[in-house]
Amino acid sequence: MTKIAFIGLGNMGIGMATNLVKAGHEVRALDISEDAITRAVKAGCIGVGTTKEAVEGAEVVVTMLPAGKHVRMVYGDEGGVFEIAEQGTLFIDCSTIDVATARAVISTAEHKGFAMIDAPVSGGVGGAAAGTLTFMCGGTVDTFKQAKPLLDIMGKNVFHAGDAGNGQVAKIANNMLLGIHMIGTCEAFNLAEKLGLDAQTFYDISSTASGQNWSMTSYCPAPGPLPSAPSNNDYKPGFAAAMMLKDLRLAQEAATTARAATPLGTQAEALYSLMEASGKDGLDFSGIMKLINGTL
Ligand code: NAD
Repeated sequence: MTKIAFIGLGNMGIGMATNLVKAGHEVRALDISEDAITRAVKAGCIGVGTTKEAVEGAEVVVTMLPAGKHVRMVYGDEGGVFEIAEQGTLFIDCSTIDVATARAVISTAEHKGFAMIDAPVSGGVGGAAAGTLTFMCGGTVDTFKQAKPLLDIMGKNVFHAGDAGNGQVAKIANNMLLGIHMIGTCEAFNLAEKLGLDAQTFYDISSTASGQNWSMTSYCPAPGPLPSAPSNNDYKPGFAAAMMLKDLRLAQEAATTARAATPLGTQAEALYSLMEASGKDGLDFSGIMKLINGTL
């Protein structure tokens, strides 16, 4: 049994923490939301109210927070994890945050003698609850090996992507590609329909031709061909457009710093920003179809 401090028990964190409890670990749950702690206690965690109570005596700290500023605060602020944790404690940050913050926080951890990895996930709330997340990890090989047994409980695929921050790099590069091919797929279905070719016939042809891609065959944005896709459920998420926009913004921020040309990533961010401006970013990200076909 490992003593784990779990900080951030929102939509994702609650499922992940529950799976750690089910595997027999002691999980102390800390969140700024009382409701989140209550839910975690119902799932078998020990609810705590301060970082000190969560982290003192813990062997591992797992964080699952909204953004870089929260991660910086939770680890680095006065009374934060860095001040309280005992030497030898392992830190695993599973939040999706900007690459620069991930690298800076891990560098500070290492300077203080701690081992830390960034380990953002894909797989959504369903994957968190089912323990089937994909983890993309950045950090030293030794730290990755130390973290892997716990990540294996919360996920199905656990990858070491290289040095600190590379987990975030893998995550934003993948999601930028996802945003781009989702928009391209919407454009293709819309063009076909405007020219008199129905969605099912176009799907049958293109899904076995060179236009085939994941957005088409696993998540078809045009209603009809894939009954389980959000397009057949009024574009209810799934993976909300707001979350896609968050990842596209992180990708653009990193691309600017790295001077990487991402013209289609820039366009994808602009289009998802329009969904946000229309107040429709609560729709699934495949709902960008409605922006493309003029029904948003
Ligand atoms: P969420 O907003 O539901 O949960 C975040 C939790 O962190 C909340 O309960 C909040 O109260 C808590 N929190 C914020 N600041 C805190 C602090 N200082 N101390 C303690 N707790 C604090 O978000 P989520 O959907 O669970 O996502 C968490 C992370 O996972 C994000 O970085 C997100 O981008 C990423 N992610 C989400 C999904 C998804 O489908 N929801 C998928 C992949 C990755």
